[in-house]
Amino acid sequence: MSIVQPHIERLHAYSSGIQPPKGNGAIKLNLNENPYPPSTHVLKALHSIDEETLQRYPDALCDELRTALAKLYGVKKEQTLCGNGSSEIISLLFSVFIRAQDRIAIPYPSFSLYHSVAAVHQVECVNVPTQDDFSVNVEWLLESRSNVIVLVNPNAPTGRLLPVSEVERLVKNFPGLVVVDEAYIDFADPHASVIPLIERYANLLVVRTFSKVYSLCGARIGYCFSNEAFIAAMEKGKNLYNVNVISQRLALAALQDQEHMKRTAIAVGHTRDAFSANLQSLGFDVIPSQTNFVLCTPPAHIEDNGARQLYEKLMERNIYVRYFEGSRLSDKLRISIGTDEEMTILYNELHCLLEK
Ligand SMILES: *Cc1c(COP(=O)(O)O)cnc(C)c1O
Repeated sequence: MSIVQPHIERLHAYSSGIQPPKGNGAIKLNLNENPYPPSTHVLKALHSIDEETLQRYPDALCDELRTALAKLYGVKKEQTLCGNGSSEIISLLFSVFIRAQDRIAIPYPSFSLYHSVAAVHQVECVNVPTQDDFSVNVEWLLESRSNVIVLVNPNAPTGRLLPVSEVERLVKNFPGLVVVDEAYIDFADPHASVIPLIERYANLLVVRTFSKVYSLCGARIGYCFSNEAFIAAMEKGKNLYNVNVISQRLALAALQDQEHMKRTAIAVGHTRDAFSANLQSLGFDVIPSQTNFVLCTPPAHIEDNGARQLYEKLMERNIYVRYFEGSRLSDKLRISIGTDEEMTILYNELHCLLEK
């Protein structure tokens, strides 16, 4: 008999995109990383870390960072918690709130890490279809006969945003926990966040990350907001020193430079809109995106499997985009937004590839 639990044996590990070796000139548009460096405050904070700081255990509760987050979002420190990336927070949600016999509902397509974590915890995950234009239908989620709903907003990999009024309708009419993952919200309309709703709805939990808009994927730091009782429960369930001292300092420095964050988000948005228009001029169908990536369908005149072939041919040219096998996705590419220069190189390559 195997020592490994059978449900783990059966699991397909979550597959993140390819990370080509550093310094080989690859254009990386496959992991939704920010093409711009973090705020200069972040490197200053990094250089200010001394031996003593490394010698001591970090603050287990990220007091300073939570205080800063609470102030920025107008909530209490007791309504926020930090984690080792939002991925840790997502795992923690399953340990703290979700029982083995529960069913979680998530729109399809969406961020597949939720399916992987559900499988690790032996929780059933129900895919609720999105509409033909990939927008989320709140009614269908409410009818899903589930105990927990996960909503990635704006959604990945579609880039579509559900308006606050619709998210509120969901939270109001659903008796169980609603998790809203706002990993990309700072690229969208700043008023699209539902953080203010945690005051009114005890079943709402909002997950955020420093990975995307703050350019800190490597530092692994995420955060969330909910009512005080839920946050207290998560504090009990989390790993003791879950966020290391360096990451706590870097996140605090990043948070204190809101101007830099906003500039970056605006720059990415401009590049995204211009690139989307260019893709359309090549005959691509592009889903309007509120994020730092676009989901697009290559023109119909190229052969079957056109998206996969483009993905592979771009990789031969050292350009990495994302291809998903799943239904409604296998004819599409998800392209993260890089710098203007990178997107011009990609556009020129696509132009050549489509002419052949
Ligand atoms: C990138 C991403 C995250 C962030 O994960 P981290 O662990 O914080 O790096 C969370 N949710 C979604 C939907 C994402 O795309």
